[in-house]
Amino acid sequence: MKQLKNWAKTTFCSPKDIVYPTSEEEILNLVKICNENHTPIKVVGAKHSYNDIFCADKGGINVSLKKFHAIEHIDHVQHSVTVQAGIRIPSLIKQLKKNNLSLKNLGTNIFDNIAGACSTGYHGSGMDYGIFVSDVLEFRLITPSGEKKTIKNSDAEFDIYAVGLGVLGIITHITLQCEPYFKLEVTEKKMSLEMIESQFDTLLKENDHFKFIWIPHTTDFMIWLGNRTDKPVSSSFKKWMTYGFTGVIINNFFHEFLLFFASFKRSLVPSINRLMSKLLLPKEGESAQSVYPSHWAFFLPHVLKQDVVEYAFKIEETFDVFRQLIEMIHTTGMRVDTPIEVRFVKKDTFWMSPTQGEDVCFIGTKIHFPYGREPEYFRYFSEVDRILLKHSGRPHWGKQFRITTEDFKKNYKKWDDFWHFVDQEDPNGLFQNAFSKRVRGQ
Ligand SMILES: Cc1cc2nc3c(=O)[nH]c(=O)nc-3n(C[C@H](O)[C@H](O)[C@H](O)COP(=O)(O)OP(=O)(O)OC[C@H]3O[C@@H](n4cnc5c(N)ncnc54)[C@H](O)[C@@H]3O)c2cc1C
Repeated sequence: MKQLKNWAKTTFCSPKDIVYPTSEEEILNLVKICNENHTPIKVVGAKHSYNDIFCADKGGINVSLKKFHAIEHIDHVQHSVTVQAGIRIPSLIKQLKKNNLSLKNLGTNIFDNIAGACSTGYHGSGMDYGIFVSDVLEFRLITPSGEKKTIKNSDAEFDIYAVGLGVLGIITHITLQCEPYFKLEVTEKKMSLEMIESQFDTLLKENDHFKFIWIPHTTDFMIWLGNRTDKPVSSSFKKWMTYGFTGVIINNFFHEFLLFFASFKRSLVPSINRLMSKLLLPKEGESAQSVYPSHWAFFLPHVLKQDVVEYAFKIEETFDVFRQLIEMIHTTGMRVDTPIEVRFVKKDTFWMSPTQGEDVCFIGTKIHFPYGREPEYFRYFSEVDRILLKHSGRPHWGKQFRITTEDFKKNYKKWDDFWHFVDQEDPNGLFQNAFSKRVRGQ
């Protein structure tokens, strides 16, 4: 038995084996052998999901494509790239930069595997930008029955495969639409919730990327704006201060040290939050500006382990839902030790996408595990589930949620169609696992 654990150490699994194919033919043969032996199989990406979505079913094997990670083709006219699906985002970014290209949009974690990001609906923030998989032009995959298949984004079936949750076979190649290399000017500014609400439409429309955060137990909100620019990049010293000193040392190491004490006495959390707000946020009335290559601008260093819940819901309900969360934290007295992040994503037509059919707001909230110590947070996450469900919230597939199959059915129009299609493609259920069975209520 081998052991797999995710980045956050919230999920452990023991597949019978982990295999590392190096070619498409090897992947194809693996799927055929698993079919013959009725052995469950599942691809594992970077294990950055917070739940067990990447674990093979009992007695099954996990496949890692980390040795199948080359760039196969760059189209300099169309600004697109075709990669083997095991590539991680950082090495793709590095190769794209050499070819004067950038990925169009990223979340704050830029260490995912590219196919894992597509399969879970990974996203950033910005009203003109969909989830990451919206930039995919074509997938090549090995189907559960062991056939090669190509799906273009113009094919009707693309809507089914786009957010595939790892149950529709093994993606072997991805062609992605990129953009000429770009820099982002980042502006961070404290703003009251009322101001953010009154300027909401403008903030969304006039910025390429916009999100905001709230530091719980304080009155501190901050907007984050990212806009394409030709201005020169900020100095190396400033970059080190932003990512090294503030990002890693203060926001991770020092924060972890403080939260260690709060793991014994949760009443310390509000004071720690106030201190972190003073250290990290710009002063009242001032704004912090910087210019970085886009991937640096999107990125937020994460070292301190955490668990996360994040839901998408109608963008029109942003402030209503957000105020309910604030109210819930106040009334229950629960201590929340990390900023709550509010992001915005354009709608799509993908059957299993949390952004299917409507422009959405994503609200994400975390609880940290300083030096591995876990405070009790189940009740908090359950309260978040409860509020978001009232608003037909759809959880991020790679994060935590405790909602029922009935809730999924209500909130995903194509829920039954998707699983019907999966069962047709994979009658032996080889790509099913505990995660998929749980969400299906099996
Ligand atoms: C610190 C941190 C910050 C994060 N920030 C963000 C963020 O800003 N935005 C956001 O949306 N998410 C974020 N996440 C969540 C995480 O990035 C996503 O869940 C991510 O998409 C998982 O990618 P992965 O490579 O780790 O995939 P894994 O977790 O390893 O796998 C996820 C799924 O993809 C499937 N899969 C992987 N490869 C293939 C393949 N070749 N073919 C078919 N299926 C495949 C797996 O079977 C599994 O079902 C964050 C996570 C962490 C740990």
